[in-house]
Amino acid sequence: MLNEVSALGHRMPAMLASPPAASGRTYLMNARLFDGTGADARDRAAVLLDDGVIVRVGASADAVPEGAHIIDLAGRTLLPGLTDCHVHAKGKAPRVDKGAEEILPATPGHFLQALLRQALRFGVTTIRDVGSYDDNAIILREAIKLGLTDGPDILACGRIVSATAPGAVLFKSMYEEADGPWQIRQCVRNQLRRGADYIKVMAGGARSVLRENPEPAQLTPEEMEALVDEAHRLGVRVAAHAEGLGAVKVAVDAGVDTVEHGLSLHRSPELLDHMAGRGIVLVPTLSTFHDVSERIADRFEPHLVEQAKRQKDEAYRTLIAARAAGVVIAMGFDSGPPGSDALELVRMVEGGLTAHEALTAATIGSARALGLTDVGTVESDRRADLVVLDSNPLDDITALMRPAEFDMVLKGGRVVAGDPPRRLVQLK
Ligand SMILES: [Zn+2]
Repeated sequence: MLNEVSALGHRMPAMLASPPAASGRTYLMNARLFDGTGADARDRAAVLLDDGVIVRVGASADAVPEGAHIIDLAGRTLLPGLTDCHVHAKGKAPRVDKGAEEILPATPGHFLQALLRQALRFGVTTIRDVGSYDDNAIILREAIKLGLTDGPDILACGRIVSATAPGAVLFKSMYEEADGPWQIRQCVRNQLRRGADYIKVMAGGARSVLRENPEPAQLTPEEMEALVDEAHRLGVRVAAHAEGLGAVKVAVDAGVDTVEHGLSLHRSPELLDHMAGRGIVLVPTLSTFHDVSERIADRFEPHLVEQAKRQKDEAYRTLIAARAAGVVIAMGFDSGPPGSDALELVRMVEGGLTAHEALTAATIGSARALGLTDVGTVESDRRADLVVLDSNPLDDITALMRPAEFDMVLKGGRVVAGDPPRRLVQLK
């Protein structure tokens, strides 16, 4: 992981030592605007930011607002910051070679910080942590909120709620086991006490655990209904890990908010219709199936690798079936290294989505998945989480994979990544 970070890092736009503050008005002119509302991209757009919020979206021909910093984007593409709905913010330290110095126990937290700063530089301004060790994601969420380090906004689940299951042996403090409706309700309450923003549940087994079967549900309908009722009554959303049809059915029937993976859904048009009708969002995580079957196949038992190959084919079929059914699709990378999140969008396009649909998934689709109304589009009253790219990702989605393409990334109106010299000249 360290090698991956430094390999990307040296080509990365430098961070500003003291970034321009979010306060004051900034006027971005001559943008090719992808606004995330579903509209076609338009040229010569102009966007006015005030104290970190978008206050006006118009055309470059409009009167220039007085007293604003003016930045001429010269036809570059302006789009909402990206949201990755399926991140395991683990920040695992790299393996140490024999004879080399050991990584100290507290160091992995710093890796996590570095990894999330990297994601931010690639335009990922919000992530949903779907399970990490101990309370790391919550701790980092607070540090970012306090301005102690730069990173995307984090929505954290605390521990993943799981039935007593083999996966908990492997994933240790990432899980909290509970069985029966009342234990499950208490487990939901435990996560909220911990500081969770939403609840993540294992509706079924995981593809990466040899002794789990991803096909059937692990929780009974009674348990899943108790979990969803507890979470929704207390005002938080539910994300369900669900691969096989049994797992997806118990989750959708109980009314979860997002289905993670959901690769089997192409086999059930009825469940897809239910999801579309109830606004349940699908997070297809195509990349994870490439991981287990290709990128990191050497870390898995042959049976799991073969299973992942089948699942990968199914996941692509489900992507198309979900679009046809009108299910909202969101971006969830569930892979690494951080910063390469947009590879998930490249795969969506390879799988048959248009670049416009893939970008929609990564912006408003993901905002819907997370229940966020202040990000995901470039409209008045939205937070100024914005990305400026040199080229047009609607023509070539892989532009989002190339660090040199990122002219600017703004979070809450503050420039957090980009090319400082050019920008500072224009800010004068
Ligand atoms: Zn996951």
